[in-house]
Amino acid sequence: MFIIAGIQPKRTRLDKRPATCPRCGQATASRQRVDQYFSFFFIPLFRVSKGEEVLWCDHCQMGFAPQRPGPTVEDLRPAPTCRRCGRPLAPDFNYCPYCGAPR
Ligand SMILES: [Zn+2]
Ligand SMILES: [Zn+2]
Repeated sequence: MFIIAGIQPKRTRLDKRPATCPRCGQATASRQRVDQYFSFFFIPLFRVSKGEEVLWCDHCQMGFAPQRPGPTVEDLRPAPTCRRCGRPLAPDFNYCPYCGAPR
């Protein structure tokens, strides 16, 4: 039977930046949410249920459980360290508390 009205999934892309697919390793994945829409003649009319967020890969045509957000650039910036002894320094210290070297 040809169904013209019913529930159809609709994928909403949440993030324009491509993500790496955990399966094929290509940057063809993106964060998407799959909502269930009531559609009529294949036109989504209204949302029936709000779906879970998934990492959808266009290459594999598969959704994956979302990963935790990766570290941001801020997190990756190394903490300042002493030039003489290499120990981490608080950003507001002008002198190393361990060896007394100026920053
Ligand atoms: Zn993939
Ligand atoms: Zn030092």
